[in-house]
Amino acid sequence: MIELQHLEKQYGGTFAVRDLSLVFPEGELTALLGPSGCGKTTTLRMINRLIEPGGGRVLLDGRDTRDLRPEVLRRGIGYVIQQIGLFPHLTIAQNVATVPDLLGWDRQRTARRVDELLELVGLDPAVYRSKKPGELSGGQAQRVGVARALAADPPVLLMDEPFGALDPLARDRLQQAFRAIQQRLRKTVVLVTHDIDEALRLGDRIALMNAGTLAQFGTPAELIHRP
Ligand code: ADP
Ligand code: ADP
Repeated sequence: MIELQHLEKQYGGTFAVRDLSLVFPEGELTALLGPSGCGKTTTLRMINRLIEPGGGRVLLDGRDTRDLRPEVLRRGIGYVIQQIGLFPHLTIAQNVATVPDLLGWDRQRTARRVDELLELVGLDPAVYRSKKPGELSGGQAQRVGVARALAADPPVLLMDEPFGALDPLARDRLQQAFRAIQQRLRKTVVLVTHDIDEALRLGDRIALMNAGTLAQFGTPAELIHRP
């Protein structure tokens, strides 16, 4: 479970995030929804401390993330962004193995894990493990990005507009694939999106942000039926 307590961040005297308190329930996907500039990305990056909070706390299973070592954060929190940034000179397998390699897994264990993850995201390992990122479509590259983020089986997954750069058909297919993956793995997921349909489709909960604060929080049904 992730808990934000009175989280805040200012840039040049202006609040990007202001007094944000929120619980992301364990094993659920929470869509962090809101218009561009409302503070979603800043919030997400404060969770994994890519951005240092200006005030307040982030608790991961009850522990203040300030007290966690950076390796523990890297290992416990998978991160997927819009332009996934695969290493172009490495193979797909090597890209997926980034975190296992950092953790010093033995080669057989890593190879097994890579194949399992490629299967999970719908890429035939025999076909894709030796390819280079330049040989993939946008949707396939995002699948590899999801596989890479899941490599060390982190309990938490942070996703920042992961489907945003895809054409509608590829987006639709990857959203469906991800929904199936999440039904199986039950990670605690925070999905940043400005797309209401995506939030309704994928979110167990929706946290609606406006101007750096929480405007509403609830299940899709609760939010739809609220006047
Ligand atoms: P969102 O992800 O909802 O689009 P952001 O969290 O990226 O919003 O940004 C929230 C606000 O903070 C915006 O007004 C943005 O311009 C501002 N902001 C974000 N990052 C910086 C930065 N590094 N320096 C100055 N202002 C920033
Ligand atoms: P996104 O596509 O997630 O909305 P942006 O394009 O808004 O991201 O921001 C890209 C990067 O620029 C981020 O690292 C963000 O923190 C930074 N940034 C966003 N707004 C500002 C700003 N007003 N001034 C300086 N940096 C900013």
